[in-house]
Amino acid sequence: MASLNDIRSTYLEFFRRNGHRVVDSSPLVPRNDPTLMFANSGMVQFKNLFTGVETRDYKRATTAQKCVRAGGKHNDLDNVGYTARHHTFFEMLGNFSFGDYFKDQAIAFAWELLTKDFGLNPDKLLVTVYHTDDEAAGIWKKVAGLPDSRIIRIATDDNFWRMGPTGPCGPCTEIFYDHGDHIWGGPPGSAQEDGDRFIEIWNNVFMQNEQFADGRLVPLEMQSIDTGMGLERIGALLQGKHDNYDTDLMRSLIEASAHATSADPDGPGKIHHRVIADHLRSTSFLIADGVMPSNEGRGYVLRRIMRRAMRHAHMLGAHDPVMHRLVPALVRGMGAAYPELGRAQSLIEETLRLEETRFKQTLDRGLKLLDDELARLPEGGALPGAAAFKLYDTYGFPLDLTQDALREKGREVDVAGFDHAMQEQKQKARAAWVGTGAAGDARIWFDLAEEHGATEFLGYDTETAEGVV
Ligand code: ATP
Ligand code: MG
Ligand code: MG
Ligand code: MG
Repeated sequence: MASLNDIRSTYLEFFRRNGHRVVDSSPLVPRNDPTLMFANSGMVQFKNLFTGVETRDYKRATTAQKCVRAGGKHNDLDNVGYTARHHTFFEMLGNFSFGDYFKDQAIAFAWELLTKDFGLNPDKLLVTVYHTDDEAAGIWKKVAGLPDSRIIRIATDDNFWRMGPTGPCGPCTEIFYDHGDHIWGGPPGSAQEDGDRFIEIWNNVFMQNEQFADGRLVPLEMQSIDTGMGLERIGALLQGKHDNYDTDLMRSLIEASAHATSADPDGPGKIHHRVIADHLRSTSFLIADGVMPSNEGRGYVLRRIMRRAMRHAHMLGAHDPVMHRLVPALVRGMGAAYPELGRAQSLIEETLRLEETRFKQTLDRGLKLLDDELARLPEGGALPGAAAFKLYDTYGFPLDLTQDALREKGREVDVAGFDHAMQEQKQKARAAWVGTGAAGDARIWFDLAEEHGATEFLGYDTETAEGVV
């Protein structure tokens, strides 16, 4: 059975053979790009090549890119554990043409790799195209012999790819695999498309526009290609599985989690192991790329993921820090492809252990408070904003952690009430500050920050934590 590591190599080798330069993944923190929180796709490091601002000594490239989708335009945090196909951290395999080949060749490459080198059954594949893109539909017919019924036209943004609110973009064609009618879900564009029967494996973007902040969508001078295929998704397929979490690597992490918590990997705590395995990867890779847990910006996204994982470990009955003990399994599985993991191993372990040790006490007490609050509520009632705010302010529960905890019980948070409590807190802090008569003394500001813990400056603010993207 080909491992994820083998499949990554096969992909890169296929495109190397076809004239592409194999380029390393860029770090998860984009260099000099304030518009994006984390690399969320392979094209991010090539943004300036598509727009023509920069040129290099190659016009074709191929990469396996580290991606994190935990905020901003592409946010899969809430999908993790619930779908068969989403991670917060994943590897995107990509091939790129910078003003070199375009639609014909891109589609021909994709079809050849999938049906020949990877040996997928062509009858299980179907594609989408942007509704106005007759050209792409025609190429699919010619190259793959697909009937009209398996070339689905989509008019929504699902087939007009954008990395974020600005930047290069364009119509795309996506390739799906039909796992069969024993799994719930419908074809793309149907009412059941969110199910996991038809899984999108590969997106080919025809880069031909640039989106500006003022709303202008301008044609680019060159026509380029940007593709992205989730390694874990193609890996599941080639390993005869339906679910990304059943691939060799994810399974080894789930088993490490089961071992560390003494909880059955396939028992009632299954979902917790999946979340832990996923979050272990995103937190470790983020730390290896220089992000440290903090109370704002990127560091706060990291902290939120770490704390979510810790709650899931708690749900499995773990009384001592667990996450840091799983790092060796990750380094074993991915350290050869990503040497930065091994280099940062002790930093990752230490950061996880410290954060877990610190959060453990308030986590236990906070979860107890949450249970008490829920017991007092009418059946199915939303958690009052004030309670969610107390969990946030006193116990260090990011709002999304509380929401994640409630989701298992089919409950929600009164978010408007939470925001209101947050505003009130801010006003009080400001009043106290001015009240000292020493406005302008920055030290007081920082003292307040200390005193109020994870709130005002540091805290939950979707604008700073996620709105950057
Ligand atoms: P989906 O519709 O399934 O959420 P997407 O359309 O958001 O996927 P793209 O932005 O087109 O995904 O990204 C290109 C490819 O990267 C996808 O075809 C898929 O194989 C993979 N991919 C995207 N998001 C994830 C994720 N959260 N976890 C694992 N793989 C992913
Ligand atoms: Mg998506
Ligand atoms: Mg999609
Ligand atoms: Mg897509």
